[in-house]
Amino acid sequence: MDVLTPEQRRYNMSRIHSKDTKPELIVRKWLWHQGYRYRLHRKDLPGKPDIVLPKYNAVIFVHGCFWHRHNCKYASSPVTRKEFWEEKLNGNVERDKRNIQALIKLNWRVLVVWECETKKWDSGMETKIYDFLHSDKYSYDGQNMYDDLHDKVYIAAEENPDYSV
Ligand SMILES: [Zn+2]
Repeated sequence: MDVLTPEQRRYNMSRIHSKDTKPELIVRKWLWHQGYRYRLHRKDLPGKPDIVLPKYNAVIFVHGCFWHRHNCKYASSPVTRKEFWEEKLNGNVERDKRNIQALIKLNWRVLVVWECETKKWDSGMETKIYDFLHSDKYSYDGQNMYDDLHDKVYIAAEENPDYSV
């Protein structure tokens, strides 16, 4: 049985792609204070990355742990309508992977920052973002969530070595 009204469902669904979430604002604020300049939600890029840093050829996704199925305590599975949610949330993860792959093909570098990481923001978090921006890594979520993707990413990077400075 469906316990949500159509209005409630629309609201819930809209939260999946919500912009300017609190975790996202935390990351943006830090970047801005560090002097990084960026564009937001570029519609012309796969997955409309939350933060785009053209100078670093980098995009940053700030993912909500529940909607994007992070392996952490904030990503608990709903107890009702299990199948609906499994399908919905797994679909989100698959779409995230496809978007990251597409971005890498377009020569963007991709960092995933998780909502729970922004909650306990510390110097480790700052190091993670800094290291990513100033490295030549193609993709990094720091928690091996997209492991199968990393392999492909690594190969892709090997196929097109860029020795220019
Ligand atoms: Zn999390």
